[in-house]
Amino acid sequence: MPIPTEPIGSIPRTESLFVAFEKFNAGEVQEDILKQEFERATIETIRLFEETGSPVISDGEQRKYSSFWTYPIYGLKNLDPDGFEVPFKAGHIRKFPLILSGPFRYSVYANSFLDVSLKHAKVPVKQAVISASALSLMYPTAGISNYSQEEFLEDLIIENEKDIRQCLQKGAHCVQVDFTEGRLAIKIDPSGDFLENFIEMNNLVLDKFSESERAKIGIHTCPGGDHDSTHSADVDYAKLLPSLFELLAGNFYIQLSSEKDRARVLQIIKENRKPHQRIFVGVINPISPRLETPEEVCQQILEAAKYIPVDKLGSTDDCGFSPFCDDRSTTRELAFAKIRARVLGTQMASKILGI
Ligand SMILES: [Zn+2]
Repeated sequence: MPIPTEPIGSIPRTESLFVAFEKFNAGEVQEDILKQEFERATIETIRLFEETGSPVISDGEQRKYSSFWTYPIYGLKNLDPDGFEVPFKAGHIRKFPLILSGPFRYSVYANSFLDVSLKHAKVPVKQAVISASALSLMYPTAGISNYSQEEFLEDLIIENEKDIRQCLQKGAHCVQVDFTEGRLAIKIDPSGDFLENFIEMNNLVLDKFSESERAKIGIHTCPGGDHDSTHSADVDYAKLLPSLFELLAGNFYIQLSSEKDRARVLQIIKENRKPHQRIFVGVINPISPRLETPEEVCQQILEAAKYIPVDKLGSTDDCGFSPFCDDRSTTRELAFAKIRARVLGTQMASKILGI
């Protein structure tokens, strides 16, 4: 078995889907037209994904509207759109909604995306879901009358478990929990208490799964990626990674290629990874306009193999290529070319490492 390689998830939306979004938002087309575009974009994305040779693909998150973070709350009526803000280094801000009333229920579950992708894919499909900790930020600090934070968190944990479990039951190759707010938590609270809170919360969900189920569950960490910018790349990995590996998951998808000192990060991984945990190291930088070569990818994997046993090593991209549906800073062509470089470079490294 060669070294496994997987994407993170998102690919920039197709041109016609992007136009449909704009028209839908302007009230010029109905939702059923948008749904047709979602399906068409998913089918086209799967075809191009398979042409890269990637042994595991995603649906490119074409149907996650409007982002990897907010898909489960699409269309909910009990939201205040002016919620918490996440500032990115490039100067822009992403705003996330708050809930106004309980009970908290998802409007969209990620397994609904698999209904389309599994029908059309010829290779295994992974599915990414958002973490409980990310959605926990939706509870307003001022509180909600008749719906305490404890009640909200109880509902959230039930919904988050359901989101993961349904994907596994439907036949996803694996489920990746997007935990981009892990590194952000250190930036918000350098004491680490906020992060510990997130780890505990997500473990309440992960604890509900058996060991064999957890072997198919992974955690993605990155410093955020939007319009070629990040929100927490300046946070030292040494403050995140020891806590990260406390999460009850079998796989970790770790942004690494864009780190300034990869060897240091790999050493921290080596010292803190639990023996059963597989590390998918990021070998492609989605927010860089430069196309990596397979040789560069191969070198990064060989470097990682000095710190991580090869039977617990995998490769991935540092992040999705378009976590927010309106981010078109990278072309689809470049995204697929980068994925192809990842696949070829991983094959080269597998051969050199004799596996
Ligand atoms: Zn990411």
